[in-house]
This record gives sequence, C-alpha cells and structure tokens, in this order.
Amino acid sequence: MSQVYDAIVVGARCGGSPTAMLLARKGHRVLLVDRATFPSDTVSTHVIHAPGMAALARWGLDGQLAATGCPPIRTYRFDFGPFTISGQPQAIDGVDVAYCPRRTILDTMLVHAAADAGVDVREGFSVDEILVESGTVVGVRGHDAGGQTVTERATMVIGADGRNSMVAKAVTPEEYRTKPAVGPAMYSYWSGVGSAGFDVVVRDGFGMAAFPTHDDLTLVILGLQPDAFAVARHDPDGALEQALGAAPDLGEQVRSGKREERFRTAAGLSGYFRRPFGPGWALVGDAGYHLHPITAQGITDAFLDAELLADALDATFGGHSAFDEAMAGYQQARDDRVAAMYEMTFDFAQLAPPPPELAQLLGAVARSQSAMDDFASVQAGTLPIPEFFDPANVGRIMEAAGAAH
Ligand SMILES: Cc1cc2nc3c(=O)[nH]c(=O)nc-3n(C[C@H](O)[C@H](O)[C@H](O)COP(=O)(O)OP(=O)(O)OC[C@H]3O[C@@H](n4cnc5c(N)ncnc54)[C@H](O)[C@@H]3O)c2cc1C
Repeated sequence: MSQVYDAIVVGARCGGSPTAMLLARKGHRVLLVDRATFPSDTVSTHVIHAPGMAALARWGLDGQLAATGCPPIRTYRFDFGPFTISGQPQAIDGVDVAYCPRRTILDTMLVHAAADAGVDVREGFSVDEILVESGTVVGVRGHDAGGQTVTERATMVIGADGRNSMVAKAVTPEEYRTKPAVGPAMYSYWSGVGSAGFDVVVRDGFGMAAFPTHDDLTLVILGLQPDAFAVARHDPDGALEQALGAAPDLGEQVRSGKREERFRTAAGLSGYFRRPFGPGWALVGDAGYHLHPITAQGITDAFLDAELLADALDATFGGHSAFDEAMAGYQQARDDRVAAMYEMTFDFAQLAPPPPELAQLLGAVARSQSAMDDFASVQAGTLPIPEFFDPANVGRIMEAAGAAH
C-alpha cells in the first residue's frame, strides 16, 4: 500500500474543514473524513465573534456566510440586574460584526470550501483506529457508510474530532491547566422574538443568553448550576420561565415568541489544554483545547488554531522548519492567545455572583459608553483581557464613573 496523503484530518467541522482547506490551498494532499454527513447539526450554540469572522474574511468565506441570510450582530448587552452594560465591540482587521449561523449551514459551508480547495472529502466515514508504526502515527483505519473497512496512510493524522477525540485517546497527549466540569446548559429556538444583538443575562445561580440566527429565529440558552440543572432538565420550559421572570427585558421579548424546536441539553463541560502534536499526529479545535462555551469562543478558537496549524505543517512539509520547532510554535501561540480568556471563562461558568471588586468595576463600566464598548470588545475577543483589566485602565474607568456620579 503506498502513502497517498500529506495529511488525514479526522472531523470536518470548525477545526477540521478549515485546516484541510488551508493545507490544500498551500498545495498539500489532504483527506478529510467525518462520520457525519452534511448538513449535520451538533449540540452547540453558534456565535462567531469578530475574530472568527475576520478569519472567514481572510479565507474569502465571509460574504458566503452573510449571503445565507443570517442576521449580523453588532451590539453586545449584558444585563446584570442592578445595571446593564451595552456596547459595540471594536473591530479587528476591519471586522466588527458577529454572526450566529446554524451549524447545519456553517459546517456545510466549511466542508464545501475544503472540497473546493481540492481536499478529498469522505462523509459518513468513521475512524475506528489510529495506525502507529515504531511510535509514529502513520494512518487511520475506519469504515465507510456501507460498512466497508478502509485503511489510509499519511505523513500526518490530524485529530479535529472534538471533545471526545479518539485521536487524542490513541496518542494520549499531556493535559495541563485542566478545569472541572461546570455550567450545564439547555437551549432551543424561538420565532417572533425579534432579537438583534448578543444579549446576555447574568444572575446569581444562572445565566441566560439570546442570539438571532437563520430563519428569523432566536436561539435562547439557559445555563444553570448542576443541582438546579438536574431538576430543570425534566421541565425545561418551567426552568426557562422562572429565569425569564428574573430578567424582565429579555423575559418580555422571549414570552412574545414561540418555541419552534426541541430543547438540546449539554452536561457540565470541563476545560483542558492538550499538547497538540507528536510523531505523525496533531490536534486542532476542541480535540486539542477546550474552554467552557459560556463566552462562545470555541468556533473562533478552532478557526484561529486551524490557521496556526496549517502554517506550522506547511513549514515542515516544505522543509523550512523542523517539525518539533514549528509545532511547538503552534502550541505556544495557541496557549498564549487563549490563556486569559480561558481563566475568565471558567470564572463566569461558575454562575456565581462576581467578587465585590469586580462587581464595583462592572457597575462603573455601565456609566461610560467607551468603557461599555471596551467590555463588549473583551467579550468579543477584540480587546485583550489584560489591557482591559490593567490597573491604569481600571483606574480610568472608576474615575470616569465617579465623575459621572
Ligand atoms: C452547549 C454548547 C454551546 C456552544 N456555543 C458556542 C458558541 O456560541 N460559539 C462558539 O464559538 N462555540 C460554542 N461552543 C463550542 C463549539 O461547539 C466547539 O468549540 C466547536 O464545535 C469545536 O469544533 P471542532 O471542529 O473542534 O469539533 P466538533 O464541532 O465537535 O466536530 C468534531 C467532528 O468530528 C467528527 N468525529 C468525531 N470522531 C470521529 C471519528 N472517530 N471518525 C470520524 N469523524 C469523527 C464528529 O462527527 C464531528 O463532526 C458550544 C459548545 C457547546 C457544547
């Protein structure tokens, strides 16, 4: 059997399809497989913040996404009860807009973009085994929709196969900075709500959010602490009604609409970083790094990691960099980029009241439009968190609030 591919990518959603597409655009031979057939939904809400949209723009796919009829999101609103922070994120690379496209539409678009770039795409193909020879991953064995066993070989096998990555299980990478599972959630889709922005409600013990998506629908998600979730999953409408009662603005909006789809539930989710490379293998997207979805970063992170990984592999395939050096660069860039958001996200996902100092700061933010825009930018990932929380900036916000008081 001869080696055919430079890379086999396992998993064809936000991490896998862009990685495959970018490698193929650089001239490499790529096989992309997924056990799903597209369009295919998955348990995930689907906000893409401006940095993710900027990646789609770099790939020439932003216009295609906008043309699917998904409404743009420009305003971020955080209802904390005693005060509300409402702002517009600053742009990154000229992009200041977010979208919340259905995964059936987004992921299909990404798979097609990979195929258009020359990737061999096999849907309905499940990888059952990672092939290892002398300590190096050399390919995969799996089966197609007809049950036929197929073996494929490549220089690199890339696990883009999500949180329960079988590639990661096979290569047992080092895990670090792990976080326990927190923040189970449930969500569904409503018509007649007419939401237009990234709307978040934060209360002691629960968080709720609403985002506009395709077909004039609004996605509403409710996150709860584990004990409350255990009760709520048996009566999701009742749990949501209770939460809406504590958030009059969003409550009125959602109650004026009608739920159109079943509830999806997600159990509490843990956080981890995995060493994303080794002999003959690499990990991208949730397979390599995972943070709780409460800040809606996973899709954007998967896009940005796909770019980093494709660049690193291109450098090694082309003989411009040693494998370990290029891939360590990928790991470092990924870890540095997400470090602050990873910690902040875990804190939010506890759904506990903010500590007094933070509560005071947020109250001050709500008194200044520029501070509110900056807070929105932090959430969108267009303003680095350390910049926002820099003591000098915090001092300015507190001072401005004092002056406005
Ligand atoms: C409740 C919830 C809400 C979320 N909300 C947001 C949000 O609003 N915004 C955001 O940015 N992120 C959100 N996320 C996170 C986001 O869903 C993930 O970060 C993103 O899907 C990661 O993409 P991925 O390609 O790495 O993995 P996945 O999307 O998990 O895709 C993995 C793919 O691999 C395939 N696969 C797995 N094993 C095999 C195998 N053995 N053989 C063949 N194929 C295989 C699967 O079929 C699947 O298609 C949310 C997640 C959850 C759970």
